[in-house]
Amino acid sequence: MTGFTAFAAKEQSYPHVLDRETGAWVSLESFLGRGDYGDVIADKRVALKMALHDGRLRYVCPWCGNAMFLASLRLQDKTIERFYFKHQFENTACSGIVGKGDEAICAQQFMGAKEGEEHKRFKARVLESLNADRDFSDTALEKRHVSADRKRWRQPDVQSTWKGQQVVFEAQMSTTFLHVITQRMSFYAHEGVRLLWLFRDLNPNHFRLTEDDIFYSNNRNGFRVTDETVGLSRATGRFALECVWLVPTVVGERIEDQWQTQTVFFDELRHDTSQHGVPRSFYFDYDKAKAEAESAVRRQKQERRDRPLRDAMESFCLDLWAHRLPTPEAVHERWDPLVVEFARRGFALPDAPLAEEGPNNYLQAAYSAKHGRSVWSRHEDLVKLGFHIFDVRKKTLWIYRLMLEAYGRHEHMKTHDPNRKWAGKAVEYKGFMRNNNAAYLPSRAFDPLLCFLFPEVADTLVKHPRDVLPPERTRV
Ligand SMILES: [Zn+2]
Repeated sequence: MTGFTAFAAKEQSYPHVLDRETGAWVSLESFLGRGDYGDVIADKRVALKMALHDGRLRYVCPWCGNAMFLASLRLQDKTIERFYFKHQFENTACSGIVGKGDEAICAQQFMGAKEGEEHKRFKARVLESLNADRDFSDTALEKRHVSADRKRWRQPDVQSTWKGQQVVFEAQMSTTFLHVITQRMSFYAHEGVRLLWLFRDLNPNHFRLTEDDIFYSNNRNGFRVTDETVGLSRATGRFALECVWLVPTVVGERIEDQWQTQTVFFDELRHDTSQHGVPRSFYFDYDKAKAEAESAVRRQKQERRDRPLRDAMESFCLDLWAHRLPTPEAVHERWDPLVVEFARRGFALPDAPLAEEGPNNYLQAAYSAKHGRSVWSRHEDLVKLGFHIFDVRKKTLWIYRLMLEAYGRHEHMKTHDPNRKWAGKAVEYKGFMRNNNAAYLPSRAFDPLLCFLFPEVADTLVKHPRDVLPPERTRV
């Protein structure tokens, strides 16, 4: 073995490759076998290179998971001693065993061997689960999946067909490195095949980096099959999985992710592709929940900021219209600071609260609907006030209507409209609004202010009534 010794001094970093199919570490000696130089060239070196071109990653570096290749020293003698393991592509980040103690090397080797066994059990569990569910057919273990153009292929742990849709299941082992994950993701996404990664352990505290890679890019859902889920699959005839996911939860004005775990069924999963092109299969739609939580927090913050000013305007208006501000000085003492504060928020209020060109009429209609009585006139109920608004303040009919709806005044209006005269008026004004009759449409100049004061109707207020009102009933 002098040859080995000779080159070992030069290239000691990678005495082994990891066989991804068995989880075992294979030494250079046993990889080369007993053949002579010609056998090694034909059976090992060229065959290995061909397999790499094929996208087949069986022998990888046990330290970084990258493809390994059989390289050769520049020696004169054509002996097998000149071969050594080398990364297919130079990878400066990986130093192999250099600098690592015997203990670390043993631990890494042991994990690989242990996982080989686990991997076998994993495949058996998935197979059993799929066989229990009649919606799955053509299930196969470790069979090649050839791309549609027949140029590339992958060999998933388990593949099957679910209601006409091809699905592959891959175990997430510690020997599954990120580049392997992403290559598979893109291969199957390109092929229109659903890919479901299954974890060995769903305790998020034990997640390794590559598990995080899968978990976070899979809409924060992780899955695994266990003996319990296999039992459930058999009992129910549905493929059961243990699922762990994150729930974005609003706590105060922050969002905290909380873990949740539950047994779910494959037929309850949703499948899509993320905005980054990552195919995803999930039970809980984290992204959607996150967006909702974020907008709830935004609304909450907005509310905390806007509330005092909104309330100040309302209490001023109620005091003013109820004549609780006896002198012009008393009025301005309250109004002027409001003008300043609203201007700071970008709203221009007139110098006098009752100014013709100002929002006064709109506010009177809106606050009356909100309080369930006319807050400024002697009209006895909201129907009588409605007639008045219909007659002389047509432009405020829209906000009046929306606020009546928002505050549930339907019963009130019905009770005070025994002869259905107001109902007739409503049909009339709605017709005018649909026909774009300008006299019945609000001035849009007040929209921003009204949206600020009445966020409960803001979304609808800014629309054209034509686009909001139900279609006109045809008379029989
Ligand atoms: Zn490496």
